[in-house]
Amino acid sequence: MSQLICRRILLKLSGEALMSPQGGSSIDPEIVQRLAKEIKELCDAGLQVGLVIGGGNILRGAETASAGLNRVTGDQMGMLATVINALAMQDALEYLGQPVRVMTALKINQVCEDYIKRRAVRHLEKKRVTIFAAGTGNPFFTTDTAASLRAIEIEAELMIKATKVRGVFSDDPEKNPDARFYPRLTYDEALDQRLNVMDTTALVLCRDNDLPMRVMNIFEPGAVMRLMQGEDIGSLIVKK
Ligand code: UDP
Repeated sequence: MSQLICRRILLKLSGEALMSPQGGSSIDPEIVQRLAKEIKELCDAGLQVGLVIGGGNILRGAETASAGLNRVTGDQMGMLATVINALAMQDALEYLGQPVRVMTALKINQVCEDYIKRRAVRHLEKKRVTIFAAGTGNPFFTTDTAASLRAIEIEAELMIKATKVRGVFSDDPEKNPDARFYPRLTYDEALDQRLNVMDTTALVLCRDNDLPMRVMNIFEPGAVMRLMQGEDIGSLIVKK
C-alpha cells in the first residue's frame, strides 16, 4: 500500500468504454468484466476507488434534443442510462468478490442507495468501490462535471479521465498525425486552447478546487496500476 502515490482516486469512464469496439450492444459484458478486474486489482493494492460511468453508450440528452425530444427529458433519460451502466459494473465487480456500492443522485431506492457524501466516504474507507450514478442529478450537465464534483466532495487526490488515446493532444490524434501530445498542462491552457479534454464546467470546477487530473488510456492493461506506482503515464492537468 505504501508504494502507491494516492490513497483515493475518482475514475471517470465514458459510457462508450463499455461498448465493444466492433459496435453491437451498448454494454459488452466481457469489456465490463475486464475493466472490473483492473479496478479490483487497484483495490487489492489498497487504493480507494470512486467511479463515475457516463451514459453515452445508451443515450445523450443533447443528441435526443436535436432529434426533437425535450432536452430535460432527454437528460433525465441520459442520467438513467448511467444507472444502467453502474449496475452492470456493480455486478461485474461483485462477481469478482469486490465489495461495491452504487449511489445515485436521483432517488431509485429499490435499485441503489441515494448519494450521501458522508456515507460515500464511509464506503470508500471500508474499501468498497463506490459508483456514483445519475450524474449530478440535474439536466444540462455531463458526467464529466459529475465526476469532478464527486471527486472534490470525496476529497480524491486525483481524478483519472479514461480516454481511448494516450492523453491530451492539440488535435484528434486518430485523424491528425501531427497532433501534439501534452505530457503536462494547466487547466487554463486546456481552457484557453479549447483542448478537447472535458467540458468547461468540469475543467473550471477542477481548476478552482485544485484537483489534479490524469487523462490516459485505461485500455492499456495495468496502466492505472503503473500510474499509481509512480510511472508517468498520460497527461497531467494541474492548476498551475
Ligand atoms: N446527464 C445529465 N446530467 C448530469 C450528467 C449526465 O443530464 O449531471 C445526462 C446528459 O444527457 C448526458 C447523459 O446523461 O448526455 C450521459 O452522460 P454523458 O454524456 O456525460 O456520458 P459519457 O459521454 O461520459 O458516456
